[in-house]
Amino acid sequence: MTSTIGSTVLGYPRIGPNRELKRALERYWASRSSEAELRAVARELRADAWRSLAAAGLDSVPGNTFSFYDHVLDTAVTVGAVPRRFTDLGLSPLDTYFAMARGVASTSPLEMTKWFDTNYHYLVPEIGPGTRFSLADLTPVEQYREATELGVTTRPVLVGPLTFLLLSKPDAAGSFRPLDKLGELLDVYAELLRELHRADAGWVQLDEPAFAADRSQAELAALGEAYRTLGELTERPNILVTGYYGNLGDALPMLASSPVESLGVDLVTAPSTVDALSACRNLRDKTLVAGLVDGRNIWRTDLDKALTTAATLLGFAGEVAVSTSCSLLHVPYDVESETRIDRHVTSWLAFAAQKVREVVVLGRALREGRDVVADELTEAREAVADRATAEGVRDHRVHARLASLRPEHTRRSDYAVRRRAQQKSLRLPPLPTTTIGSFPQTTDVRKARAALRKGELDEATYTQRMRDEIERVIRLQERLGLDVLVHGEPERNDMVQYFSEHLTGFAATDNGWVQSYGSRCVRPPILFGDVSRPEPITVEWARFAQELTDKPVKGMLTGPVTILAWSFVRDDQPLGDTARQVALAIRDEVRDLEAAGIRVVQVDEPALRELLPLRAARHKAYLDWAVEAFRLATSGVADATQIHTHLCYSEFGDVINAIVALDADVTSIEAARSRMEVLDDLNAVGFDRGVGPGVYDIHSPRVPEQAEVADLVRAALRAVPEDRLWVNPDCGLKTRGYAEVDAALANLVDATAAVRSSR
Ligand code: GLN
Ligand code: ZN
Repeated sequence: MTSTIGSTVLGYPRIGPNRELKRALERYWASRSSEAELRAVARELRADAWRSLAAAGLDSVPGNTFSFYDHVLDTAVTVGAVPRRFTDLGLSPLDTYFAMARGVASTSPLEMTKWFDTNYHYLVPEIGPGTRFSLADLTPVEQYREATELGVTTRPVLVGPLTFLLLSKPDAAGSFRPLDKLGELLDVYAELLRELHRADAGWVQLDEPAFAADRSQAELAALGEAYRTLGELTERPNILVTGYYGNLGDALPMLASSPVESLGVDLVTAPSTVDALSACRNLRDKTLVAGLVDGRNIWRTDLDKALTTAATLLGFAGEVAVSTSCSLLHVPYDVESETRIDRHVTSWLAFAAQKVREVVVLGRALREGRDVVADELTEAREAVADRATAEGVRDHRVHARLASLRPEHTRRSDYAVRRRAQQKSLRLPPLPTTTIGSFPQTTDVRKARAALRKGELDEATYTQRMRDEIERVIRLQERLGLDVLVHGEPERNDMVQYFSEHLTGFAATDNGWVQSYGSRCVRPPILFGDVSRPEPITVEWARFAQELTDKPVKGMLTGPVTILAWSFVRDDQPLGDTARQVALAIRDEVRDLEAAGIRVVQVDEPALRELLPLRAARHKAYLDWAVEAFRLATSGVADATQIHTHLCYSEFGDVINAIVALDADVTSIEAARSRMEVLDDLNAVGFDRGVGPGVYDIHSPRVPEQAEVADLVRAALRAVPEDRLWVNPDCGLKTRGYAEVDAALANLVDATAAVRSSR
C-alpha cells in the first residue's frame, strides 16, 4: 500500500452522468421498483466512478462519496443518530433513511438547509442529551471492500466529527449543545477507524469545512482535542483532515500540530493560506494536500500558476499532493457531453472529468517534472490566454456604462414622497393582497415550453399558448378578488435560467446538472462574459397581462445577486463587478416595464443571504455590493412606481440591515411557519416600509383555513400598522396544484376581507 496521496480529488458527483440515480430514486419512491433494483443502480454508479477515477490516473481515489440522498444524513445513520420518531416507524433501514430525508405522512423529515455557502442542501441531524451514538452502520467499510473487489483502492471520505456536530441542531431546549457530545461521538469514530484499518484501508479523509467559518475558542479547542485523540489511536488508517470553502484561520496551526498525517487546504477560495502555512511549524512530517483545482466552479485551471504555488509549498511541507479545492459534487460530470455551448467557450471549461485530468497532470509535473506533461501545460496555457482576450468576454460598452454611473443611479426619492405618489397611482385597499409571482405550472405549459425548445412548436403557437395561460391566471385572480395581480410566469423554466437565456455573457448547458438535494438537480448557466440585455425580456408578457385587467399587474424579475448565486460565475473579475453588470441589465428591464404601463415591479432576491461569506469580517464588503446592485437595478423608476422584493426565508440574522438598505417599497418574506416573529425583528432595526409576511405556507399541499389565515393577519397587525401590511403567500406557487391554490387563495382573500371589516 502506498503511503503517499499524490494526486487526488476530495469527492465526486454521485447523481450519475445522466442523472441515473435521480431516476432510480424516483422510481423507487413511486413504488415502481424494488430496493434491490435501486441498490443495483447505485452499485453500478459507484463502480463506474471508481473505475474512471482510477483509469484517469489519480494516485488516490476517494471512496464513500456515493450517497442515496445526502452525506450528512449518511453520517447521522452511521453514528446511530436516528431520532426516535423514525425508528418508531418500524421501516426497513433504507426506508427509515428516506423517511429522515423526506418524511412520511405521519412524521416530518429532518430539516434541510444550505451546505455552507454552496447551493447544495444537507439534512440537519438532531442531537439531544439522550442521543446514544453507536457504530450503527458500516457503509463506509462495506464500500471500501466493494471498491477493493473491483481492483480500486479508495480513501474513504467521512464528514469530520466536529463539522457533524456543528451542523447538527439540538433537539432539546436549554443550554445543551450537540458539541457537548463530542467525547461520545469520538468513540464511534475511533471504532469506525478501527474497522477501516481492519479492512486494510491505508487512508481516511475527514472533512472539517466548518472551520472555514468563524468559530469560538471552545470550538477550536475541541478540534485540537479531537484530532489529538483520533491521531493517537493505534489501529487506524492514515488520516487526511480537510477544511475547504475558505481559509482555516486559527484551525490551521491547530491541525498542523495534531498527530494526523495529512492536511487538505483550499487554495482556490483562500490563496492566502499559503502564507499561513509557511508560518506553521510541524508540516515537515506531513503531507499537504493542496487544493489547487477549483472544485466549485467550471473554469479550466491555470496550471502554470498552480505549479508555482505547489513549488512554494514544497519549501515547508514534508510532501505535497495536489487536489481539488473541495469535492467535485458542485460541478457537472463532463464537458464532452455538451453540444449546445459555443465550442470556443467549451475550450475554457473543466467539469469533473476534466478536473480529474488537471489534477493528474499537476501531480505528474510535480513528481516527474514539467517536461513529461509539456503538451498538457501548453494547451492549458493557450486556453487560459484565449479566454482572457476572446471576443464576447469583454464588451467595452458595458464598461463605459459602468464607468459613467453616479450615486444618483442607486438612489430614489424619500420613501414618504414615493409612498404618497404610489397611493395616488395604485389606490389599493388597506391590507392589499397579492402573490409572489408564479402560478402552478401545468403539464401543458411545461410541454409547450419543451416543444418550442425542440422546434416542434412554432413561435406564434407557443406565444398563443402562453397568452391563454396568462389570461386564465388573470381571470382566476380577478375571480378570487386579489388586489395586485401577476401574470403567473408560465414562460419560465427557472427564475435564473430564464433571464440568463436572454442576456449576453451567459451560456446554457445541455447536461450540466448538479445535485441540489436528494434527487433534485439544477443546471446553472455559465456566466462567461460581460452582461448586457440586447432587448426587453418580460415586457410583452407583462403588457399583455396588464391589458387584460384594470387591477395593477406586477412585473416580475430576478435580482442580480440571485442570478449570480445560481450561476457558475466568472473568476476573472470581482463578483461585485459582475453583479453591477447584471444590475444594469435588470435596470433596463425595470424601466421598460414601467414604460409599458406596469406600476408595480418585483425584483426577487431569494439568494441574498445564501452568498453571505462564511467569515463575518467579509460580510460588509459583500452586503455593500449586493445592496448596491439591487438599488442600481431598481432606482431608475418614477416615485409612483412601486418596487417590491421577495426573500424566501425569515431568519434574517446578519442580513437584516441589508434588507432595510435595499430600500424596496414592499418586501415579502416567509413567515407562515415562524408565526410572524420576523416582524418584530424587522421593527427592531427600524424597518418602516411595506411588508408582506407569508400567511400561507406553500411548501406544503395543505390548504390553510380562513380562520387560520385571519389569525396570522391579526398577529401581523400587532407588529405592523395596517397601512404597511400586505397579505400574500410565502413564496411562488409554481410547484403546487391548481385545486389547492384556488382554495388557499380564496381563503386568503376572505380572511383579509374579514379582518378589514372587523377594524
Ligand atoms: N417570483 C418567483 C416565483 O414566484 C419567486 C420564487 C422564489 O422566491 N424562489 O416563483
Ligand atoms: Zn420565495
